[in-house]
Amino acid sequence: MKIIDILNQDQMSLSFEVFPPKKESSFESVRVATEQIAALKPAFMSVTYGAGGGTSEYTLAVAKNIKDKYNVPMLAHLTCVSSDKATIQQRIRDMKANGITNVMALRGDLTPELEQSDRSKWDYRYAVELIRELKEETDFCIGAACYPEVHPESPSQREDIRRLKEKVDAGVDFLTTQMVFDNNLFYNFLYKLREAGITVPVLPGIMPITNANQVERAIRLSGAFMPQRFRAMVDKFGSDPAAMKQAGIAYATDQIIDLYANGITNVHVYSMNKPDVAEGIHRNLSDILGNSFLD
Ligand code: FAD
Repeated sequence: MKIIDILNQDQMSLSFEVFPPKKESSFESVRVATEQIAALKPAFMSVTYGAGGGTSEYTLAVAKNIKDKYNVPMLAHLTCVSSDKATIQQRIRDMKANGITNVMALRGDLTPELEQSDRSKWDYRYAVELIRELKEETDFCIGAACYPEVHPESPSQREDIRRLKEKVDAGVDFLTTQMVFDNNLFYNFLYKLREAGITVPVLPGIMPITNANQVERAIRLSGAFMPQRFRAMVDKFGSDPAAMKQAGIAYATDQIIDLYANGITNVHVYSMNKPDVAEGIHRNLSDILGNSFLD
């Protein structure tokens, strides 16, 4: 099923993101965790892609396993900046062969080696180039990334949104945001996107922070703003793992309820291979999502 058809239904939806194993020996534990999340029957699940190789070969294996066993629509991430054309072409063929028709088309982060290499030799410099290729060669449903707090390499939000519009015009069906901990940043961003003529569905990305160690990494990777309410929660409960987990689930649930209450129908949760966290959020929201979640 195409994810855009799910997003266009007039009902609330929740989707979960998982990541593939880094090595063969952890495939089994990832399989078990992702299957437990799939058993919750989310609207769809996404599987990330390791930009510099590494986990990339397992993205499709995880996606196919869940699709075949649980019939949950799957979104496979694909990054292009560290790949050549032949590799990307092979990944596209692999997706088709495995019945994966939804792709999150990304550039990928610039590693220090990439930063120092000759850009004129790269086959792909921006996600828009991958999106154009996918649009020409497939009928995949295409998602792309966006940044309520501005992509770190962008000189300004205006420029970032202008580049985002180019991606959408190239054929993106929907957008998912970088993690946000303050919904007001998302609402403000959405308003600016609509003003810029970007009309596709935009899914806020919610990251449940359930242990204090995640905080620093989350800020480093995303540059996300931590509201005072959030920092107070980490200060108070960060040293007590069980309390922090419960508080993190409650905070994410609260954000999602606020989003639904304000008319945002589709929310994406960075569930990070943590079935207990996904289950906690699911349990908290089951009466709100009602049958739409369980169908
Ligand atoms: P782009 O859209 O190419 O944008 C990158 C930068 O270039 C931006 O500053 C943009 O404004 C600018 N830009 C875009 N086009 C042009 C142009 N034509 N000329 C000049 N400037 C331009 N990383 C992974 O490795 N694996 C994953 O699975 C993964 N999943 C992600 C999922 C989501 C929802 C998000 C938000 C991010 C994800 N990332 C993932 C991280 C992502 O790869 C990085 O944020 C990366 O730095 C940018 O990727 P992009 O696709 O947004 O790039």
